Amino acid sequence: DLVAGRVLRAHGLANTVLTDDGQRLECSIRQVLKSLSIDGRGTVVAGDRVRVRMETESTGMIEHVDPRRGVISRTSRGQQHVIAANVDHLLIVASAAMPSLKPVLIDRFLLSAEQCDLSPVIIINKCDLVDPVTLQQLVGVYASMGYRTLFTSAQSGVNIDSLRELLAGKQTAVAGQSGVGKSSLLNAVQPGLGLAVSEVSRDNQKGRHTTTSAQLIPITDPRGGAVFDTPGIRQFQLWDISPEEVSGLMPDIRPYVGQCRYANCLHLAEDDCSVKNAVADGRIDARRYDAYCHLLEDDLLKQ
Ligand code: GDP
Ligand code: ZN
Repeated sequence: DLVAGRVLRAHGLANTVLTDDGQRLECSIRQVLKSLSIDGRGTVVAGDRVRVRMETESTGMIEHVDPRRGVISRTSRGQQHVIAANVDHLLIVASAAMPSLKPVLIDRFLLSAEQCDLSPVIIINKCDLVDPVTLQQLVGVYASMGYRTLFTSAQSGVNIDSLRELLAGKQTAVAGQSGVGKSSLLNAVQPGLGLAVSEVSRDNQKGRHTTTSAQLIPITDPRGGAVFDTPGIRQFQLWDISPEEVSGLMPDIRPYVGQCRYANCLHLAEDDCSVKNAVADGRIDARRYDAYCHLLEDDLLKQ
């Protein structure tokens, strides 16, 4: 007689589980599960599907953790730590203006999504500030790679219905630079849902990984659904990627990698490299290739 549910917040001994019939339980974890710890640290994380033995009206014992799919993890000191489980997709939120659109940031989040094997949706918010026509070329490149893009405005309400459809029945992770409107968008979908913006301070936007645990915030929709909230996810990117890996994670560059005549080519400098040839005659978007070069030269090769 176990009850099925999902972990909203994992915190060592005190884990909050929302059962499928809508009860919130404070749960501890069966000792034997701890020894089977999947990621070497937390036995359960936000998003995990679990089965719980009720102990009182509001407490229980987690007896079983279902196998995970779609995890977000980060690697530190060679160890992989899962921070969110059963992530159905990743919303990459950017803004058309204020802060100005940074395609390179979108490219980086896309790489993270590919690396974690999460399907991404690119949201370009604040479309009330810019004529979307000016972004058509950029969006066309993403569309040709099979990425879905949605223009939104939390301010004017453009495409908030579409966003609501995207969130329904799914466990969604949200990534994006501070100030692009992530909280505003979620509040537009469901007033009061807003992510805890204050957790991300200006000076830790880049790099410094807070240890704040992820939490999963259910949305009220007959189809269910929930959004992950954690600074670690909002900024999650490229924790553990090797320079050689990058081209394979870019769907527009990937097809040319196998054709390259050089073994272990990073496609940066060699003459007659198949990737560079494809850039030269327009088969690969020049801006995307630039982003690739910057990522390798300014970032990964310097580490
Ligand atoms: P977050 O840091 O990504 O969660 O961004 P916030 O939701 O806190 O929004 C940052 C600022 O952008 C706030 O001042 C919002 O009012 C504003 N903002 C959010 N969405 C829009 C939008 O669609 N259009 C305009 N013009 N401003 C927006
Ligand atoms: Zn090459």
